[in-house]
Amino acid sequence: MPDLYTQLVSNPLGKLVASNVGLPQPVPLERWAPGAPVVDGQVLLGAAGGGRLAGPVAEVLALAEVAVSTELRDDLRTAAAHAHLDAAVFNPEAGGDQRFKALVFDATGIKQSAELAQLHHFFAPTVRRVQPSGRVVVLGTPPDAARSPKEAAAQRALEGFVRALGKELRHGATAHLVHVEPGAEPHLASTLRFTLSPKSAYVDAQVIRVGAGQAVPDVDWQRPLDGKVALVTGASRGIGLAIAEVLTRDGAHVVGLDVPVLGDDLRDAMDGLGGSALELDITGEDAGEQVVRHLGDEHGGVDVVVHNAGITRDKTLGRMSAEQWGLVLAINLTAEERLDDALLHASTIRRGGRIVCVSSMNGIAGAAGQTNYATSKAGVIGMVEAMAPVVAKQGLTINGVAPGFIETAMTAAMPIGPREAGRRMNSVSQGGLPVDVAEAIAWFASPASTGLNGNVVRVCGQSLLGA
Ligand code: NAD
Repeated sequence: MPDLYTQLVSNPLGKLVASNVGLPQPVPLERWAPGAPVVDGQVLLGAAGGGRLAGPVAEVLALAEVAVSTELRDDLRTAAAHAHLDAAVFNPEAGGDQRFKALVFDATGIKQSAELAQLHHFFAPTVRRVQPSGRVVVLGTPPDAARSPKEAAAQRALEGFVRALGKELRHGATAHLVHVEPGAEPHLASTLRFTLSPKSAYVDAQVIRVGAGQAVPDVDWQRPLDGKVALVTGASRGIGLAIAEVLTRDGAHVVGLDVPVLGDDLRDAMDGLGGSALELDITGEDAGEQVVRHLGDEHGGVDVVVHNAGITRDKTLGRMSAEQWGLVLAINLTAEERLDDALLHASTIRRGGRIVCVSSMNGIAGAAGQTNYATSKAGVIGMVEAMAPVVAKQGLTINGVAPGFIETAMTAAMPIGPREAGRRMNSVSQGGLPVDVAEAIAWFASPASTGLNGNVVRVCGQSLLGA
């Protein structure tokens, strides 16, 4: 449900007034619904000469039954034909009013700065053809995997391009940069489907790294988590409840965890989803032991662990008590570490398992009155980065999301000034919804996301804070 201002400027009179006085003009973002196509419209595929991803991208698009056009280039036409992709040819010089739901550009062929002109060549004539809630996806090579300093610099330059373009796109359209390590080409599907689809509605101008990981299993894209068990902490309300709903939609049996005082709400929520409830304070001395025992006894293990439970206790540092500092750190960071230690030690997370942590944009940007919270959430990012190689040895992945302004009871209670600033100071001029965070978590949780490990992706509509 869009906020009131977004609704007002979505009608013709409101739009006219907003445009005349230079106010932001957010449009309701498209969200995904079960059974909907990955892309509701045409994708235009382009590439820099000598790239390595046109073939793999064409394969993903063909399997996802996406309608594709390509630039008139022999290498792209050949890649499409090999992938059995029945792609039309698009020539921007021919004019016409053809529009696209997404522009996808393989930039891996760019080996030096002069070749960055190919970005301009492809996007300048096409960017104004992107439809509302459309996507721009640029695919590159991680600079640290480049073969020369000049290639590394040119590949690093893509980040600036995507971040600037994210700020130029209008009407809810967003941009992404996907770094694909050499050898990770077969791992592209889950990330390409996520970035192209309305599931990534509130993710904008992020850099995502896809690595080689374990082999990608066959996945039912409508119910990728069929037969899987997912633990979600803080699941009785807000973002945690949305995560439980989306993981259930994707086929998982959700074990929702929350504090005993919210036991009734938790049980109601889990009953509604066909999941199960685990009433527990994650800071308890034996919390890890209890979670291990419950998941082992009742479910024979767990496949997805989502660390969502979190609190704020805001005060400027000079006025903050040791208790306010300690509680936030204990719940938001230390309890996650201890739970993971217990689960990893007991091998409760099955092979191919996923750990997903909820950080916060304020852990990246900082916020006055939140030294405790920002410390804890930056620590979560550090934990994801440091644990990625550790869990990989057990065939697991760990990733994180950093939400920006999300429409929840917590943000509804903010004073109107900071609330409106938080909502509008991003490229789509609105707050995100809990489902936007949940969709990003479901993408990391998918069995197809074996190539994603150590990523922290902001779900913030390209907020200006900490950018
Ligand atoms: P919320 O307060 O509605 O939900 C948090 C849940 O965590 C509650 O159900 C709470 O009972 C549970 N919880 C707290 N302490 C616990 C403990 N010791 N043991 C077990 N459960 C415990 O908050 P929300 O807005 O849904 O936030 C969810 C997560 O998203 C948090 O980690 C929060 O920091 C993060 N986040 C939220 C926003 C936002 O805009 N709402 C932005 C950035 C990050």
